Amino acid sequence: MKIVLLGPPGAGKGTQAEWISAEYDVPRISTGDMLRDHVARQTQLGNLARQYMNEGKLVPDDVVIQMMRERLEEEDCRDGFLLDGYPRTLYQAQALDEAGGLDLVLYLDVGDEEIVQRMSGRRICPRCGEVYHLVNDPPKVEGICDKCGFTLKVREDDKESTVRKRLEVFRLQTAPLISFYASKDILRKVESSGSIEETTANIRTVLEDLEG
Ligand code: AMP
Repeated sequence: MKIVLLGPPGAGKGTQAEWISAEYDVPRISTGDMLRDHVARQTQLGNLARQYMNEGKLVPDDVVIQMMRERLEEEDCRDGFLLDGYPRTLYQAQALDEAGGLDLVLYLDVGDEEIVQRMSGRRICPRCGEVYHLVNDPPKVEGICDKCGFTLKVREDDKESTVRKRLEVFRLQTAPLISFYASKDILRKVESSGSIEETTANIRTVLEDLEG
């Protein structure tokens, strides 16, 4: 299965990606995680991407497309993949199309105000990348990562002003992908403004429906 998770920041793509990738036995590939890894390692790509990311802007297409071309050619992607955060522009979607078709695009739909509220409670482990939420998914010990014991922090780009900027970027640059994939008849819209469990159930309904 070649699946794409499409949706605004904070829609729950990362959270949902975890179980979908386990259940369908395909690698979860998050461009955000890959880019953050480059930033942390201070690679040439990371140094270029950092400023865009901190300002809530998209990293330039040619950089991201090249990074993903290489990643999708790796052995573990042969039988499918789950993309989280890619593509985010029409140009990226066309590049992905040229590399072979997709089976399904799940569009996680959430309103802006719900997103701003959600993001204010989000905490991330800078060491292992695990994501928490103060209300919906708190760590066992306040402020500490369950998995590796590191101190949690607010992601630079989760601050409210940056979140609003990222929502605008989504509307302008990524939302056109909704009609792009709808016209290919592979888009399924998933109501995602409820709890994590409700969104999971909504995705399950779509997947079961497809397997029919
Ligand atoms: P995410 O964790 O998916 O919300 O991504 C965090 C940030 O990484 C985004 O706000 C962008 O700056 C950058 N980024 C992630 N994926 C892409 C992409 N497909 N194209 C351009 N920039 C991206």
